Amino acid sequence: MERSNSDLSKLANRLNGNFERLNLSQRLGLIGGLAEHAVFTTSLGLEDQVLTRAIAMSAQKIDVVTLQTGRLFPESLSLLSTTKDKYNIDIKEYYPDPEALKEYVAAFGQDGFYNSVEARKSCCNIRKLQPLAAALRGADVWITGLRRQQSQDRSSIEFVEWDSERGLLKINPLADWTEEQISEIVAEHDIPINPLHARGFPSIGCQPCTRAIKPGENERAGRWWWEQQDTRECGLHVAASTAGAVPSPHEPVEHKGEVPNHV
Ligand code: SF4
Repeated sequence: MERSNSDLSKLANRLNGNFERLNLSQRLGLIGGLAEHAVFTTSLGLEDQVLTRAIAMSAQKIDVVTLQTGRLFPESLSLLSTTKDKYNIDIKEYYPDPEALKEYVAAFGQDGFYNSVEARKSCCNIRKLQPLAAALRGADVWITGLRRQQSQDRSSIEFVEWDSERGLLKINPLADWTEEQISEIVAEHDIPINPLHARGFPSIGCQPCTRAIKPGENERAGRWWWEQQDTRECGLHVAASTAGAVPSPHEPVEHKGEVPNHV
């Protein structure tokens, strides 16, 4: 794979034209052919489950990882286990640094994220952004399940974007998929999904920061609902320099053993 930043930026533009014409399996094949180290980050949402299945069925060497924030719904943890078993796939789990969490609780309180945007972003930084950085270390391609229809903020995402801050290609193979397409493939292949979707949770993150949506609301309206619309992103999908995250002095940890939820 070409390596210079300007080459990769140009490559992203060229690939966007190619992706348009390909089906999902062909898109993954294209990624597998160009990447030296591709990482797919799943948060176990509908789109991510579709991608996890497609990757498991493909011959592509793509690492599947998830961010274990310590505040996930029990249903999400159960789905993670079910998915690993059903597809016989290793989903590597990245955890926040315990020392950073202790400092956070001392400074803001266990649920301090409700009190200010700064406290919320600091929590997302420790529990999500720092583990994400560890998960993407050494990767040249980052695959996500983002779709244009998910929100106004995501309406103009490309299939392939050059992430200059992380120094990798960010690829969204489902960018043009509709909600109906996702539902159809989930039903067709009996893909395991989170039971919370049927209870009004189209977008599921950490338990204390996700509520069911009301009829007519945007599918991401239940995330950080107490904040103004313009602050409601955890920073995973915005440039690190604009995420407003408070840096953590500690390194996140990759962990394969049992770590209690709600640390
Ligand atoms: S979504 Fe909520 S609990 Fe999860 S990391 Fe962000 S602020 Fe913390």
